[in-house]
Amino acid sequence: MKLLVVEDEIQLADALSEILKRNMYTVDTVYDGIDGLDNALTGIYDGIILDIMLPRMNGIEILRNIRREKIHTPVLLLTARSEVEDKINGLDCGADDYLTKPFVTGELLARVRAMTRRKGEIIDNNKLEFNGLELNKNTCAIIYAGNDVKLSLKEYQIMEMLIANPHHILPKERIIEKIWGYESDVEYNNIEVYISFLRKKITVISAPVQIKTARGIGYSLE
Ligand code: CA
Repeated sequence: MKLLVVEDEIQLADALSEILKRNMYTVDTVYDGIDGLDNALTGIYDGIILDIMLPRMNGIEILRNIRREKIHTPVLLLTARSEVEDKINGLDCGADDYLTKPFVTGELLARVRAMTRRKGEIIDNNKLEFNGLELNKNTCAIIYAGNDVKLSLKEYQIMEMLIANPHHILPKERIIEKIWGYESDVEYNNIEVYISFLRKKITVISAPVQIKTARGIGYSLE
């Protein structure tokens, strides 16, 4: 899952991003309001963690803007204790939840899970399953009939995208966009390498699941 962190306190922003990455999220971090808005408007994120007090454009304005553009990415507002009015304002403007600073890691992760769950794509955030093949977030492994094999972070992220929408072709551009980001210079054959690793691992645990290639387009889980 891909998250956007918009927070101008650089240390906090980087710490947030670290924690989230360690918990298997892909994270883009920006430190001011205009960059936050630009990124949020791409609509590619599964969730946005948005500070309210930001240079150049505040979080509430960003939120208003993206909702006006019909972007429904879930938003978790970060607020200081003194910003009660902003909090109410934020929820009125279409934020999904808020978290008061300072917060503990456990609460942040729980809120992020709840926020991304609301989108309805994933029912149990720790476990995804298709045809008996399970993808486990806690262990970063795929499991079938008691056999398991660990995945690398990128393999995990690709598998997560595939398993969330089985039988649907996942275009290569979308994989790059989600996992490496717009400006990356990852090439299609890099993805092919990860797909071939994943196929081998699926074979290792003898799962009755296949990653099919849609030539020139992308991949689907069958
Ligand atoms: Ca701030």
